[in-house]
Amino acid sequence: MIEKSTVTVIGGGLAGVEATWQLLRLGCRVKLYEMRSKVTTPAHKTSDLAELVCSNSFKSLDPNIASGQLKNEMTAFQSLILQAANIAKVPADKALAVDRKVFSQELMKTLSDHPNFTLLREEVKDIPSEKDLSDRNEYIVLATGPLTSESLSHSLSNLIGDEKHLAFYDAIAPIVDCDSIDMNACFWGNRHDENGADYLNIALNKEEYLSFVKNIIEAKKTPLHSFEKIKYFESCLPLEVLAERGVDTLRFGPLKPKGFTDPRTGVMAYANIQLRREDKRKAMLSFVGFQTKMTWPEQKRVFSSLPGLKNLEFFRYGSVHRNTYLPSPKLLADDFSFLTNRRVFPAGQIVGVEGYLESASIGLLVGQIIAGKINQRKFQLPPQETVLGALSHYVLKGSTGEFSPMNANWGLVPFSAPKKMKKNEKRALQSSQVQSSFTSYLKACCL
Ligand SMILES: Cc1cc2nc3c(=O)[nH]c(=O)nc-3n(C[C@H](O)[C@H](O)[C@H](O)COP(=O)(O)OP(=O)(O)OC[C@H]3O[C@@H](n4cnc5c(N)ncnc54)[C@H](O)[C@@H]3O)c2cc1C
Repeated sequence: MIEKSTVTVIGGGLAGVEATWQLLRLGCRVKLYEMRSKVTTPAHKTSDLAELVCSNSFKSLDPNIASGQLKNEMTAFQSLILQAANIAKVPADKALAVDRKVFSQELMKTLSDHPNFTLLREEVKDIPSEKDLSDRNEYIVLATGPLTSESLSHSLSNLIGDEKHLAFYDAIAPIVDCDSIDMNACFWGNRHDENGADYLNIALNKEEYLSFVKNIIEAKKTPLHSFEKIKYFESCLPLEVLAERGVDTLRFGPLKPKGFTDPRTGVMAYANIQLRREDKRKAMLSFVGFQTKMTWPEQKRVFSSLPGLKNLEFFRYGSVHRNTYLPSPKLLADDFSFLTNRRVFPAGQIVGVEGYLESASIGLLVGQIIAGKINQRKFQLPPQETVLGALSHYVLKGSTGEFSPMNANWGLVPFSAPKKMKKNEKRALQSSQVQSSFTSYLKACCL
C-alpha cells in the first residue's frame, strides 16, 4: 500500500497541473493553490487551470522535431496535459493545436474526479522555511510561472538572495473573427500537405509585402517601463523587432512562402501570411508569428490594410508582457530543489524553460521526483540523450553563455552526425537515436 502524503503545488498552470497529476497517480495527496478568480495576471483571461495565454498550439507532432519527440516521452509518463490536448485538438497540419476551453475543462474534470485532489483558489504569498516544511514533512512545488504574483516574487527574492531573478519580455499574437475575413482574397492550405486545409493563407506579392513591412516599422508601439531593460525570447520575437532587422527577415521567418503558390498568379507567393484555427468551430483565428507591441489602433490599421482583411474584427489584440525566471544552474540542486530550501521545488517556465509543453515537462519531472522521495523509490532523471533529459540538463547545468529560457530543440541533445548527411536525414537519425535512448531508460528505470 503506497503511503498518501500531501504535497502543496502553488500555481495551476501547465507545470502545476502536470506535477499535480504525476503526484496523484503515484499515490500522493495534492493541495493545488491557484490564485486566479481572486487575483489575476497581466496575460490570463479566465480562472481555468492551465490556461493557454497566447497561441493554442503545442507545436509539432513530428518525432523528427524535438517538440514532437518530447510529446512521445511525456506520453510514456501518461502526461495529463497531453491527454487533455488530444481530446481537445483542432486540425492544424502537423501541429497539436487545441480548443483551449475544451482543453482546460478536460484537465479540470480529471483532477476534480480524483479523491486525493483539493483545489484552493488562493494567492500564496510566502514560502515557508525549510525547517517548517521539514517539521510538517511537507514538499512544495513552486509552479507560479513567468507571471508569478508580486508578493510571492518578494518571498522568492528572499529565498534566492535579492535581485538574482531575471526578467525578459514575451509578446502575444492577435486573435481575429473568421467571419470578418474576405475569403475570396485568402485560401485554406497546409505547407507540408498539398491536400490539407488547416491554415488560412494570405499570399502577398512584392509590393504588398514591402508596404506591410513599412507599415509595421512606422506604426506606434506600446511604450514599456523605462527602468526595465528589454530582453526578448529569440524564438518568439515581435513582428516589429523582426521587421527592423531587415526587409526580408519576415519573409524568411513567419511569412515564408515555401509550399504555397499565389492563387492570383499561379507562381510561388512573395510572402505568405498564415492564420491558425483557435477553436473547433473555426470562429476564431490567430495570426501565426504575429506577436506584437503595436498599439491596438495601429494593429487594426496595419492588419486591416492586408488583402481580404479590410473589415477585420479582433477578439484579442496582440500585446507584450514581462516574464520572470530563475538563474537555475546557480540555485538548484540535482533534484530541482532550491539549494537554500531542499523542500521547495520550482517547476515550469520559472526554472528557465520556454513554452507550454516544456513547462509541463518540468512539472512532470518534478512531480515524479517528489513522489519518488515520498514513496522512497528514487526517480532517475532521463539521460541527456533524450529530450526530457536534455532540457533538465540545460536547466540544472546551464550552457556556456548567459543562462536564458530555452525551448525543446535538437541542439540540446548530444549528437554527432556522419559527415555530408542531408538535414532531414540527420534529424531522422537523431530522432531514432533519442527514441532508443529513451526506451532503454524506461526499461532500466521506470518499468
Ligand atoms: C504573454 C505570454 C505569452 C506566451 N505565449 C506562449 C505561446 O504562444 N506558446 C507557448 O508555448 N508559450 C507561451 N508563453 C509561455 C507560456 O506561458 C509558458 O511557457 C507556460 O504557460 C508556463 O507554464 P507554467 O505552468 O510555468 O506557468 P503558467 O502557465 O503561467 O501558470 C502559473 C500559474 O500560477 C498562478 N500563480 C502565480 N502566482 C501565484 C501565487 N502567488 N499563488 C497562487 N497561484 C499563483 C498563475 O495564476 C498561473 O495560473 C507565453 C508566456 C507569456 C507570459
